[in-house]
Amino acid sequence: MNTNSSPIQILPDHVASKIAAGEVVNRPASVVKELLENSLDAGATEIEIIIKEGGKLLIQIVDNGIGMSEEDALLAFQRHATSKISSFEDLESLNSFGFRGEALASVAAVAQVEMRTRTNKSDVGTLLKIEGVKISEHSKVASEIGTWFAVRNIFFNTPARKNFLKSNSTEFRHIFNIIQKIALAFSSVKFIFISDDEEILNLPSQTLPERLNALFGETVSQNVLAVSEGNEIISVEGFIGKPTYFRKTQSEQFIFLNNRIIQSKNLNHAVFQGYENMLEKGSFPFFALFINIDMRKVDVNVHPSKMEVKFDDDNGVYRMILSAVRKTLSEGEVISELGITKNLEGFPNLRGLTPPPQQLHFQQQQKFPTEFLSSNKQENFGTEILDSQKTETEISPAKNLEGFPDLRGLTQIHNQYILCATSDGITIIDQHAAHERILYEKYFRLFETNSPLSQQLLFPLTIELTSADAMLVNEQKMNFEKLGFQLKFFGKTTLIVEGIPTDVRVGKESNIFREVLDKFKEELSVKIDAREALIKTFACKAAIKKGDALLEQEMQSLLTQLSQTQIPHVCPHGRPVTLKLTLHELDKKFGRV
Ligand code: ADP
Ligand code: MG
Repeated sequence: MNTNSSPIQILPDHVASKIAAGEVVNRPASVVKELLENSLDAGATEIEIIIKEGGKLLIQIVDNGIGMSEEDALLAFQRHATSKISSFEDLESLNSFGFRGEALASVAAVAQVEMRTRTNKSDVGTLLKIEGVKISEHSKVASEIGTWFAVRNIFFNTPARKNFLKSNSTEFRHIFNIIQKIALAFSSVKFIFISDDEEILNLPSQTLPERLNALFGETVSQNVLAVSEGNEIISVEGFIGKPTYFRKTQSEQFIFLNNRIIQSKNLNHAVFQGYENMLEKGSFPFFALFINIDMRKVDVNVHPSKMEVKFDDDNGVYRMILSAVRKTLSEGEVISELGITKNLEGFPNLRGLTPPPQQLHFQQQQKFPTEFLSSNKQENFGTEILDSQKTETEISPAKNLEGFPDLRGLTQIHNQYILCATSDGITIIDQHAAHERILYEKYFRLFETNSPLSQQLLFPLTIELTSADAMLVNEQKMNFEKLGFQLKFFGKTTLIVEGIPTDVRVGKESNIFREVLDKFKEELSVKIDAREALIKTFACKAAIKKGDALLEQEMQSLLTQLSQTQIPHVCPHGRPVTLKLTLHELDKKFGRV
């Protein structure tokens, strides 16, 4: 980072006082963090970290950065001594981790520190030993270019704080987490980490995907999608977990701003928003996102730990993250894995799948050709097909067919899954989850455009509600109506259902309202947005179920509709809709390769 070797200066008081100050060292991990950041600021490409007893006994960090002159080495431990800024304005264009000149002073105040350092301008290095701020040894020493630090017996002079430290394994974990984050952000830097003589990490200079794999293992690296979006001013790169790979903890979520790990509730929120309806309560996606931004556009001097950076919803950064995540999820592998393309043009092989057959017993047949063609394409259905045939002759047909499902040979197994051959393997589709996804998106759209699809019931239903339920229905009446229910109260607790959404299957009309209401209450209790809870509930209750036998044409239209959804790969609850086996995988299993 800051590889030009400006001399260290003591920041004048009027500058120092403007910079957010704070406790830098509160546990061994914070020492590791500060020293690693200094090494990176010094342009190191190789860093070795050795700790003993969770860092309580020893933290040793060796880098091959630019090192310090004797003069700078002596200054470095003074408060507000920094080579990184000299005026408050410099903060605006800051591209180093450090700037407050506090870390070494704070470390030296609470531990026994030994430092050896040499620049390329000198043949001999400087050795300093400092204990509780006082320099106890100062000499010349033979050393490599770079800086060597040993921090021993942290809090030796403040027993109360020492007592506050946790077990060695807990402190180790904190240190490991810090190193993991920094190593992820600097994949080209070589890191070695040894704890109590055991080699924990040995990371060569790597590409980001290699580093991801080395740090988190294959399961993670095979279950992420690459994100890349932005312009010259801001960009975001990195990886987000596939919607089918959720974790039970939030610990594997990283956002870096110009390679600095940051914490921003709002940016996390932007990522979650991007996953929208795919996340169940208590499941978390993996993500490692690298935002790069012109530093003049953000305030880095917000919190002493230098990690809290603020972006709000109407900020461009927020919106960029949200859109990058959405785009990645809807366009990424998610769809290519399913092996179907989204738009009609890319779907020339419907093999005569004309607007759907009358035998369909989920009732939307009159509707769905319109619904599932993207906006107002209905009239053009014929031309679209013609157009696509035109393109088909332009592109080689084989290429066009790649990965496409063969809608001719669909098979239903156990009245639960649909088996579908694709040009490069087979795809298994969970019929309930697929239909749930279709209905969810359809009703979401209808809801937003306020154009409910309702069917009048020949015999209106009278339902007796508890007064609590009656209150809820009353309060949510408009939302129920936007979904396609037609409701009227007769007295306080008697509800008359005069109409229901069109997608309710034959035979389910009389139960659907109750089922939706009961499930809706459950969903609401986990506190999601009422509108979303209602649509999710309805999609679940109205969808074909496991056990429902399907005709071939029904399967065909189900797949066609699924291919038109935004996110065909996951159901609204976050479970997978499709499972793909490639020919290659099959060949492997049959011992053919
Ligand atoms: P800051 O990083 O905020 O400037 P520090 O107290 O962490 O403050 O470091 C003080 C100064 O010591 C830095 O500005 C830098 O010039 C020098 N320094 C610290 N660590 C190293 C290192 N590993 N290699 C070279 N110089 C260093
Ligand atoms: Mg520093």
